[in-house]
Amino acid sequence: MGVLFGTNGIRGVAGETITPKFAFRIGKAIGKVYGGTVAVATDARSSADMVRSAVVSGIAAAGIDAVELGMLPTPALQYFVRTHDGISGGAVITASHNPPEFNGIKCISSDGTEAHRMEESSIEDAYFHEFPNADPGSTGEIYSYSGAARDYADAVLSRVDRGKIRESGFTVCIDCANGASCYTSPAVLSGLGVRTISINSDPRGNPGRGIEPSEDNLADLMSMVKETGADLGIAHDGDADRCIFITPDGKFVSGDQSMAVIASYVLSSASGKVVTPVNTSSVVSDTVRDAGGEMVYTRVGAPAVARKMIECGAVFGGEENGGLIFPEMQYCRDGAMTMAKMLECVSERGSLSDLVRGLPEYHSAKIKVPCPDDKKKALSDFFSARVSDLETDNTDGIKVLFEDGWVLMRPSGTEPAYRIFSESRSETTARSRAEEYAGMAEEFLSEKLSS
Ligand code: MG
Repeated sequence: MGVLFGTNGIRGVAGETITPKFAFRIGKAIGKVYGGTVAVATDARSSADMVRSAVVSGIAAAGIDAVELGMLPTPALQYFVRTHDGISGGAVITASHNPPEFNGIKCISSDGTEAHRMEESSIEDAYFHEFPNADPGSTGEIYSYSGAARDYADAVLSRVDRGKIRESGFTVCIDCANGASCYTSPAVLSGLGVRTISINSDPRGNPGRGIEPSEDNLADLMSMVKETGADLGIAHDGDADRCIFITPDGKFVSGDQSMAVIASYVLSSASGKVVTPVNTSSVVSDTVRDAGGEMVYTRVGAPAVARKMIECGAVFGGEENGGLIFPEMQYCRDGAMTMAKMLECVSERGSLSDLVRGLPEYHSAKIKVPCPDDKKKALSDFFSARVSDLETDNTDGIKVLFEDGWVLMRPSGTEPAYRIFSESRSETTARSRAEEYAGMAEEFLSEKLSS
């Protein structure tokens, strides 16, 4: 059976792979699998209407009702799905941080979490086993609701200490990547009494920067924070499930570092477990340990983190890319909630520059070794045997634990490559270890491929 969903839903170039015909058929499959009203939202891409209308048409053709919520951050749609009993699932038309020509479809379960792989394969089954459209008398109806952005912003505002943030009199620069957060994050900031300076905050505008909130793409925001003397810089990706911060002196804060800062803050009032995938920096585990919390590791990917958090009753969790999860709001990465929580943290604990300076320092090195898909298993077996005397964690790939850091070896899920990721307190060690393990992989593969 064919596979359509990758680690982040279905993605492709709009009009090429994500065609109206494809979107209609996947919409029909989504309708069939969810079997009750499906909520649909989009990010701000120019192909949004083409893909959305085809998906919605497909849902109706399966005899299922759809409710259109318009342009929304992914977590806002997730919040809507979870808080409305009559909604059986959701579909977001988004390609998250991918370039503007891309689009995609991400499915949301009735509890608001990202669809489980089993649910995705049911949708794939329904897609590949074509079935007739509903009879004319029983096609689904299409409704619309325009209040979901406001409901979500209000929900975020009700989960932080508004008074404390308001009293701090913050000025913040925000960069919404011309994305879905343009109508929600500035509204949340205004509700918190924060003076806001925006760039890339027109969702109809051409993207003013690369959509991934990486250091390279945030140069304008960094200089703006510095020049305006703002207390914080805030950046989202296209569908605003992630949030990245800039310090008042204009420095980029990695997602690992902001996760550590917020973990320490969360643990100051609620002791418990913090969940993150195995590729997150030890800056998080060190901080969690120091704050009296317990670190729990999962496989790479936000759905694994969310599910583990539910299972173990964690107080906080998230990914190293700025996608953080707050159980008091919902079990999914939430960009606006991350923003509001960071403001609460800074209002209580002082400047983000100082908070970041107080974190332990780690260095990382990443090497991608080309590896044919059919050799990945053999390479994994080779590594397992090679490191059998060392302390390892096999939650996802092979993570070798050293006194001063670790090396993680994982086959790529999306390309013919094997990823070597090394972290250490010493920059030289991080690099030399990554090179050492990449060298082992290359040597093994060259023998394997020539034999
Ligand atoms: Mg995203």
